[in-house]
Amino acid sequence: MQAGQLIVFTGPSGVGKGTLLRALCQRHPELCVSISATTRSPRPGEMDGTHYYFVDRPKFDRMVADGELLEWAEFAGNCYGTPRAAVERQVSQGQFVILEIELQGARQVRQNCPEARTIFILPPSFDELERRLRDRASDSEEAISRRLNIAKAEIAAAREFDIQIVNDDFETALAQLERAVFSTADGNGSFDSPLETLRER
Ligand code: 5GP
Repeated sequence: MQAGQLIVFTGPSGVGKGTLLRALCQRHPELCVSISATTRSPRPGEMDGTHYYFVDRPKFDRMVADGELLEWAEFAGNCYGTPRAAVERQVSQGQFVILEIELQGARQVRQNCPEARTIFILPPSFDELERRLRDRASDSEEAISRRLNIAKAEIAAAREFDIQIVNDDFETALAQLERAVFSTADGNGSFDSPLETLRER
């Protein structure tokens, strides 16, 4: 059976991770995307069990205490975590499983699952990230400024990841993501996909 692969996909809120991931999965329906648990309220159009498992804080705390989460973090006032059982089952069945998660959780996975491949998505600039977050218009001003502050710290950590991709032109970023997910590691642990040069900012 083909070996499975755990893939961590991270980057600041508003960078377009979700859109890139949806496009990637349309091209490759064989990919599995983990469905996280969160204490955040659903946004319009989000469905329980599809976008997230929406749970209250006591339930989330029980999942943590019972060791049901592979990683978890508090982000902008809400908790998010990856249910462990589904991920472990899919990887053991030879599937490629993608976790779309924030920085603290990504660091936990890197530490606990060193075989995971980690990909960081960068905005072309900080101003562009702010514009995208505001365009989304689904969050309050307070939530947007919290996410922007977190984004600064997240972007500074991009180099911790195996592969960095700048989401400037969408089709280019998607092609790079596709190569990053399906490339194979060489003997030195680096990947044969072209590493993007992280732009100095
Ligand atoms: P949003 O509220 O915009 O859906 O997600 C906020 C942030 O939480 C995003 O950066 C998203 O990638 C991250 N996130 C979603 N699910 C998880 C998870 O299970 N664990 C962690 N650590 N972060 C998550």
